[in-house]
Amino acid sequence: MSEPQIYCPQCAWRPLGTSRWVCARQMGGCNTSWNTFWTGGVCPGCSYRWEITACHACKRYSLHKDWYHWPETEQHESEHQLEAEQPSSR
Ligand SMILES: [Zn+2]
Ligand SMILES: [Zn+2]
Repeated sequence: MSEPQIYCPQCAWRPLGTSRWVCARQMGGCNTSWNTFWTGGVCPGCSYRWEITACHACKRYSLHKDWYHWPETEQHESEHQLEAEQPSSR
């Protein structure tokens, strides 16, 4: 099993183990700071799931899931699923 590469989809910056994100109080958050990639974007303070993650390098926001870059093989599997979902004609 291969692990996804985690980096900014806009500038390819890779988060460090020491990188921290803050559960933004101005957006209704609890002000906890933590490494968002250890929890998949879920705040450990209030359990809020952040859909967007800010890049520390380019300061732009991207969807949290867009930071995960899976190997090519994943796409072949989903193509196969589409074929299997074809309804059988009578
Ligand atoms: Zn929070
Ligand atoms: Zn970036």
